[in-house]
Amino acid sequence: MNIYGMSPRKLRDYFNYIGENSAKAAIIYDGIYRRGVIDFAEFGFAERIIERLRADFDFALPKIVEKRECEDAAKLLLELSDGEFVETVLMRQAFGNCICVSTQVGCNMGCKFCQSGMLKKRRDLTAAEITGQALAIAKAFNCKIDGVSVMGIGEPLDNLEAVADFCELVTEDKGLAVGRRHVTVSTCGLAPKIREFAELPRPCNLAISLHAPDDGLRSALMPINKAYPIADVMSAAEYFSEKTHRRVTLEYIMLDGVNDTPDHARRLAELIGKRDFYVNLIPYNSTDSSYKKSSPETVSAFCGVLKDNGVIATKRREFGADLNAACGQLRADRLR
Ligand code: SAH
Repeated sequence: MNIYGMSPRKLRDYFNYIGENSAKAAIIYDGIYRRGVIDFAEFGFAERIIERLRADFDFALPKIVEKRECEDAAKLLLELSDGEFVETVLMRQAFGNCICVSTQVGCNMGCKFCQSGMLKKRRDLTAAEITGQALAIAKAFNCKIDGVSVMGIGEPLDNLEAVADFCELVTEDKGLAVGRRHVTVSTCGLAPKIREFAELPRPCNLAISLHAPDDGLRSALMPINKAYPIADVMSAAEYFSEKTHRRVTLEYIMLDGVNDTPDHARRLAELIGKRDFYVNLIPYNSTDSSYKKSSPETVSAFCGVLKDNGVIATKRREFGADLNAACGQLRADRLR
């Protein structure tokens, strides 16, 4: 097994299973995530435990094959042990370094505007490969990680167990210690999985890619809407919010002439109603698709209508467009 895939709970279970004190899990966390230890001999454990750990775990990390960097963002293309590629982004936000991690090799959700979806899912990432992305960024740019968006390639809730392990791992106080308020998992709206996600012992924030105020338009943009229409997604999101008291953000890509009129904004506000959800307006990063980004004036007008109707909305800052850094673009370039 890969040690970087062991959530705190799984590592404690492991020690119980081999008949050792589970407090050793915290010692290992402190060593590998705070001090970069990559040898079990460095923890002061008895020889037989070191031998057992060495037999059971490895410290393999994804290989950095390409590194791009600009002023406010950076991006890595990583090669996994079976030769697949994933990408990871670093954004230098006002509050600190935020990374965006991938959860699958490719994606099966087929959103029409998304580059990742043009390349079908080849497999899920393991928890170790998701953590490996964070460690690769920390190493490549010698930085601390302050926030994590689970918004890279793939649909996180289509790989829930690994994503749940990763969320637990990355927020562990003794380890990378990213605040739970600074970890956000983004989904295209797998309603039953949102409810499962709400049941986790230490849930993070949730973002939902809504992108349209009605089922007709949303189904045209996102085929998954035919399986889980807006009403199902909103009710699952409400359940998540009540159960966890964590923030729910609705993501809304602004697509020129498609979903960006004041009327769309009014209907979006109506849909949200009294629910305590934020809206994050996302500038579209152009891809091979025919969609274009909305003008800044259109985005401001849309945002204004939401605010006038009592909805809290923010405009997402653009990072690293010159890195070709939007979802899946680096991997797509490579595969070409
Ligand atoms: N599958 C998850 C997470 C990955 S996509 C989800 O759908 O939420 C992360 C976010 O980026 C989603 O809101 C997605 O709709 C959006 N996105 C995809 N392609 C984009 C592009 N070219 N420009 C801007 N945002 C994009």
